[in-house]
Amino acid sequence: MKGTVYLIGAGPGDPGLLTLRGKEILEKADVVVYDRLVSPAILGMCNPKAKMVDVGKMPTHHKVKQSEINRLLVQFACEFPGGVIARLKGGDPFVFGRGGEEALELVAAGVEFEVVPGITSAISVPAYAGIPVSHRGIATSFHIITGHEKADGRTCHPERSEAESKDPGQNLSLDFETLAKCPGTLIFLMGIANMDFIARRLMECGKDPKTPLAFIEKGTTPYQRTVMATLETAGETIARENVTAPAITIMGGVVELGQTLAWKKNLPLAGKRLVVTRAAKQASGITARLTALGAEVIETPMIETRALDCPNVIPAVILEGQSPDRIMGISFDALANFDILAFTSTNGVESFFRQLFAAGYDVRVLAGKKIASVGKITEKKLLEYGIRCDYVPEDHTGEGLGRLLASLLVEHSRILLLQGNLADDTLLKLLPQATRWVVYETLPVAELPEWKREAVAGADAVVFASTSAVENFCSVILSYTTLGASPLSGSYALWVGERSSGSKDLNRESLTTPASCSPRLAFCIGRMTESAARKHGFETVTSDETTMDSLVKKIVEHYKKES
Ligand code: SAH
Repeated sequence: MKGTVYLIGAGPGDPGLLTLRGKEILEKADVVVYDRLVSPAILGMCNPKAKMVDVGKMPTHHKVKQSEINRLLVQFACEFPGGVIARLKGGDPFVFGRGGEEALELVAAGVEFEVVPGITSAISVPAYAGIPVSHRGIATSFHIITGHEKADGRTCHPERSEAESKDPGQNLSLDFETLAKCPGTLIFLMGIANMDFIARRLMECGKDPKTPLAFIEKGTTPYQRTVMATLETAGETIARENVTAPAITIMGGVVELGQTLAWKKNLPLAGKRLVVTRAAKQASGITARLTALGAEVIETPMIETRALDCPNVIPAVILEGQSPDRIMGISFDALANFDILAFTSTNGVESFFRQLFAAGYDVRVLAGKKIASVGKITEKKLLEYGIRCDYVPEDHTGEGLGRLLASLLVEHSRILLLQGNLADDTLLKLLPQATRWVVYETLPVAELPEWKREAVAGADAVVFASTSAVENFCSVILSYTTLGASPLSGSYALWVGERSSGSKDLNRESLTTPASCSPRLAFCIGRMTESAARKHGFETVTSDETTMDSLVKKIVEHYKKES
């Protein structure tokens, strides 16, 4: 049995425009083969264990040929029997995305596949600029046209930018006579480098030189820009405004509606890419806030949790004062020795049940036990497993839980605390008779996937909320630099410093040089965090108070001042 390949459209850029079906598949994918135009936020939704294969093409060099991509898809389907292979493409896979060619190859190789349509940039990018592609009384049809073809007339690969073209327009086999007569809206993809030629040919064939036209660059992303022109000023406008790929060109009367309907607000952090180094669960709050202010956020947690899985034994019951070798090898049957199970985090709940199920047990082993939770979120997580809590402290703190249990319980209750390795001793101190079982570990992240390294390298700033985040970030980033073996502070300071004096036009090749691995600016919470960041050579901006609100305010102020 082979794996199934899913040809998934990632939409035009805004991660909110990925379909539910696409997200569902990415979350369980074994392999993700992705293109250049797919946003880091969508890559961040993929199963963290998936093999991530970048076949994106940069404008100036083809990374992986189309025939090679086709071959890879078949190969992965064979390597992952019963597996999920996601082929993730910008926009819609069947709109100038070569999805059809890939599907034909899969049929030929006897590989099952499914198509998950995406929102095409052709329609959504104008919509984000307030331009409806059709409008009663203005346009009764719209036409999506490639502005770039190969010499033999076949459409060029979409990820290969128009910018590479040395001889604009010469390969285009478009029927300009027909296009010029067409009363509907014309939408050109991949056409920027050829647009001067296209516009001239359309005018030669009788299209009105005053036809309004818009170029929309990086539509739906925080970097979206709309540039207006007319058919006769198309070429000079592109040159003057330096319109660059990816961009679409839309022509026709509907373009004028954009002046009234442009709804996307000019947000204070638009065009800024920020790296958030908080742990995934804490990051979502700040990520949502910064995103709402227009920033592109790259979540790069510096710690990760790992369930201690060891089927059929309780892996590390830390019976206070006993050595680890006495601790191993206790089976889940040992739960019989406890009256109360207390959970202090959702991680604890998830890790506990994962191990319980892996060991062949089910929730019946908890029959008759009292269950306690530190707060509402953990309580809700327990409910997902069909467990209702008996005890939840009002103040939702470890101390509250300890007090509550201590006040309620007869001295002889046997309590099992299910916690992570970094949990403090608050509960154990308040409940001296309790036993702690470390069900998961929190470890510093040791490496970043390639796509995330690139996203971090191209960011404007890093957000740090603790000194450990600074230290972990620097050691992970340093391990990718040529100075990786040098002592942390000296060499890091050197290479972070280098970036300021070095060239801003970092190209892909230079990604391996130290100067381009991290932004130079750090937004920090707390003076300790600030001095750790400075020690490593960052320029810092620190919040007035030690809260996320205060930091977000500071970030906005910083960029306001800058502009
Ligand atoms: N399958 C894709 C199109 C691939 S062709 C889709 O359905 O959208 C690649 C071209 O799409 C780019 O050259 C550009 O013209 C256009 N494009 C893709 N994403 C874009 C974006 N976010 N903003 C502007 N144009 C975009």
